[in-house]
Amino acid sequence: MQTYDIVGVGFGPANIALAIALEEYEFPGSRLFLERRPGPSWQPEMLLPGSDIQNHPCRDLVTPRNPRSRYTFMNFLVENQRLFDHLNLGLEFPLRYEYAQYVSWVADFFAGEVRYGTAVESLRLDPHDANLFIVTTEAGESIRARSVVVAPGRTPLIPSVFAECDPARVFHLTQFNQRLEALATAAPLQHIAVIGGSQSAAELVLHLRDRCPDAQISNVMRAYGYRLKDTSQFSEHVYFPEFVDYYYNLSGDGKKRINQHLHYTNYSSVDKDVITSLYARMYEDKLRQAERIRMASSSEILSCGVQGATQGQLQLEVREVNTGAVAKIENIDAIVLATGFRNLGVGEGEESCPAILQGLQDHLAHNQNGILHIQRDYSLSAREGHAVPPLFLNGLCESSHGYGDAGSFSLLALRARDIYESLSDKLNTDQNTRTSAQKQRKAACHTDRVAEFTGAEVQ
Ligand SMILES: Cc1cc2nc3c(=O)[nH]c(=O)nc-3n(C[C@H](O)[C@H](O)[C@H](O)COP(=O)(O)OP(=O)(O)OC[C@H]3O[C@@H](n4cnc5c(N)ncnc54)[C@H](O)[C@@H]3O)c2cc1C
Repeated sequence: MQTYDIVGVGFGPANIALAIALEEYEFPGSRLFLERRPGPSWQPEMLLPGSDIQNHPCRDLVTPRNPRSRYTFMNFLVENQRLFDHLNLGLEFPLRYEYAQYVSWVADFFAGEVRYGTAVESLRLDPHDANLFIVTTEAGESIRARSVVVAPGRTPLIPSVFAECDPARVFHLTQFNQRLEALATAAPLQHIAVIGGSQSAAELVLHLRDRCPDAQISNVMRAYGYRLKDTSQFSEHVYFPEFVDYYYNLSGDGKKRINQHLHYTNYSSVDKDVITSLYARMYEDKLRQAERIRMASSSEILSCGVQGATQGQLQLEVREVNTGAVAKIENIDAIVLATGFRNLGVGEGEESCPAILQGLQDHLAHNQNGILHIQRDYSLSAREGHAVPPLFLNGLCESSHGYGDAGSFSLLALRARDIYESLSDKLNTDQNTRTSAQKQRKAACHTDRVAEFTGAEVQ
């Protein structure tokens, strides 16, 4: 069985940013990233034509940490001879297609460190050596690791009312393209429901209107209607690096209070361009007497069942939350759940531990609410009386580190640096193998960090 200094679970943006940091800081140890998908990609199931990203493109995999890196979005444009075409676009944000190409372009530089088509099933301690993990893949292979960085992205949130539904017809947006394609190939789709009132929900409704020109689209959401995203520059401080320290040190009540204020910077809200586009399309449909989008707002779903056993079509029972009126939405061919993701926690829609870490639960420290205790450096610590090798969560820490974590690119690059620093200290690579040039580089990285934190004041 092979042993690596670092095994990374997942090779999405979070661990790609870490791979860059390891290379640029000249980490001397061995590493292997295990990625379930067959090749590099970024949210491939939601690559909808015309959709754009929601972050400034320079808040990419590396620029905030090292703007001179080869792996910046700007350098991607230069090396692909698209800089001037791109600058001339006049779009506020790049197209998601282009950003996904950027992510894959960077990932390709690290192909030698990644094993694609390899899903990790579990993680446990090596019974023969307390300094090692054993990482087991779904194919049954075992790999030893001196440390593990877990970055599988958050678990999709499937509301319990849909738990027993046929997954071929009722699916989360993280499976959208594949599942819709499979259904549409079997028979033309005549009625699709989108559940949710988020940016993704609005994008899906817009997309389905064009992709399925004969289908009716029902959009069920609990909110009164699509809300504009809070893009106030003042609220957007939540995506500043110093916000992480501020948030991390707040009490549970403080976190709750600030979350309420900041919720609409990233959740249950939609960018203006998408709202305007959707509203205009619906208006145009009305003019042409060809209305196909039906909004069921202020509505909660009471049940989802099969209707007409042979066809497998579905029906939703919904209640208008303000009037209490109950209605049915019938003859649905497919239901797309734009219902979000699970954060770590014990509240509704949260999970106390990512599935992959279940086998380690008994060894890990939890806080008073029974949630994994995550340190400021994104590491998990051992429960009293237990020992666990270095273990990090990369991109799962929104409930402890704030909104700039799981749901955003904004702080990926700086988080990679935090993890790198702590990881290399814990693995003790400094003492054993680091050359003086590498030490200088690390010192520079510390100096940058101090300047960044002392130069900014938390409001
Ligand atoms: C539709 C959509 C659009 C978004 N758009 C934006 C945006 O415009 N701007 C922005 O800032 N943020 C956006 N986000 C948030 C964005 O996804 C994150 O910022 C980013 O993708 C998180 O990267 P990640 O590596 O943590 O997770 P992911 O991107 O989810 O990557 C995780 C990787 O781990 C792999 N994996 C999972 N489980 C295993 C396993 N058991 N074994 C091996 N591999 C595994 C997955 O296949 C995946 O490749 C968007 C999110 C979604 C869902």
